[in-house]
Amino acid sequence: MASQQQVRQYLASWFQLGKKVVLDNGTEKLLPQPVIRGDRYSPEFEECWQRIMATDTKQSYLEGTEETIAQLLAPEWELILCSRCDLPLAVPTAGLPPTACPCFDLSNWPNLELPRPRQPIDSQATLENIRQRLLQKQPREGEPAEGSQAKDKTKDSKANLLSESREIVNPSIGLDLPLCQCPIA
Ligand SMILES: [Zn+2]
Repeated sequence: MASQQQVRQYLASWFQLGKKVVLDNGTEKLLPQPVIRGDRYSPEFEECWQRIMATDTKQSYLEGTEETIAQLLAPEWELILCSRCDLPLAVPTAGLPPTACPCFDLSNWPNLELPRPRQPIDSQATLENIRQRLLQKQPREGEPAEGSQAKDKTKDSKANLLSESREIVNPSIGLDLPLCQCPIA
């Protein structure tokens, strides 16, 4: 069973690749743009989410998929990351693996040259996280730190800080989901 938060991430990821959400068995299709504004979901996305939740979720689904939003939120289904494109897809918790990822009809996906869909990042929390990790890497006070080693550690920290700040600029999707085990086609 996916949490509402995971379903929001699922929709947000695919919206960024142009997939729409179908409401009321096709009477309405929504594609909020932009999906992310700053470090949070956009008002357009939130409005769309409210709209989905206000309609019959048994009749709404992501374009190109068969699983309804109601199914995703039920125990028989869960979200995992596609082994081909690293984006979330729905699989039954028991039984056969999925036949296709929503990416199957996107001829230009996966495309390493395009920016990957992302989720809002809480920059405050991210910075705090980095600060904590850097603190852990510093030699503790009172511990004998030999001159050359201490210098190396500072260098390490700087390199880490650099790579971490790159993560902020281009954060990975940041979804906490298991990876699909099916063979890559
Ligand atoms: Zn995929």
